[in-house]
Amino acid sequence: MLARHRMDPRSAVGATGWELAGSRRDLSVPALEAPPRPPQDLTRRVGPAPHLLPRSLSYSQAENLLGCRQKWTYRTGLGIRPASVASVPSGNQMIGTLVHAVVEELVTARAGRGGVPSQAEITEMLDRLVPQLASELLLPGREVELTTMRETAVRSLVEFFARLSEAGLVITEVESRFEEPLRLHLERGEVEVPFTGSRDVLAEDAEGRPTVIDLKWTSAAKKYPELFDAGEALQLASYAWSLDDPRTDVGYFLLKQGEFVSANPALDPHGRPTLDIARAWGTTVSGITEALDAIGEGTVSARSGQILRDAGQDLGTPRTDAKKTYAAAQETARAEGGIVVDARCDFCDFSLLCGLRGDAS
Ligand code: SF4
Repeated sequence: MLARHRMDPRSAVGATGWELAGSRRDLSVPALEAPPRPPQDLTRRVGPAPHLLPRSLSYSQAENLLGCRQKWTYRTGLGIRPASVASVPSGNQMIGTLVHAVVEELVTARAGRGGVPSQAEITEMLDRLVPQLASELLLPGREVELTTMRETAVRSLVEFFARLSEAGLVITEVESRFEEPLRLHLERGEVEVPFTGSRDVLAEDAEGRPTVIDLKWTSAAKKYPELFDAGEALQLASYAWSLDDPRTDVGYFLLKQGEFVSANPALDPHGRPTLDIARAWGTTVSGITEALDAIGEGTVSARSGQILRDAGQDLGTPRTDAKKTYAAAQETARAEGGIVVDARCDFCDFSLLCGLRGDAS
């Protein structure tokens, strides 16, 4: 019955327009237009925006200001956020959260008892926390991944606690939050911003000298040693600054590799240089200051994307090639006393807004 009333919509279009059941509309074919080419210069120039100041600064915000001023402006200055479902931790981020929690729980459970957790205790704690913090690894088909992660994490944490103990370091705090006033001398005047963060692990030697250890679950095994050796471990410098103790030592522990990155030979046998904390923190603060001055004047660059763009690369460029481009830019910047922070355009939510992804409208 209904089939008798059906018609092909194309038959309603005639030479001069569209007509159906007595209704008529003119139709015209728009001229073909090529999609606009992605801009070569990603910098946005807008009116002065002196109100765009951080209410507080975390290290990751500072890293965005150093790496890409547009990323900070979109995310923090203007408060643009991806949908919350898009930020559920997964992959390395999820496992990193899990292993951090294992360390925190183990240290808290042993408080006052001394000694180091055994392999059995580490395994038990990990198994206890997987359902809360990494439940997707319990899904059918993920058994190999779970087993591999479990073996790697347990082996790594056994090494972590044993090395610290052999080095004469006792963990005194885990996940210790801090908030310290940071004075910034901006062109528009001096401002004070609370600098906030959380030190993963704080340990002390017999003389009470502090060591801050940042835990990283990462596949990028070379990234943190390179940052450390180049004196660009800015995150560690920020944690040391927060303690305001000139005796503070710092280091990373790479959870996936089970290795420390540190100038302390008892933790890391590679003979690394001591991180010049004052210099690294000075670089961080001057980078933040320059970025906020430029944003306040209305010039908002997108340096990480611009480095790719200037090299004729984009988000489709294989990461190994993009890394080489950043390494070259870092070398150039270092020679001039500057620094390049890779803001990871490949994981950024704002690549359409900054123009690196092109105009997909
Ligand atoms: S994609 Fe890259 S250049 Fe664009 S906003 Fe994000 S970090 Fe900045």
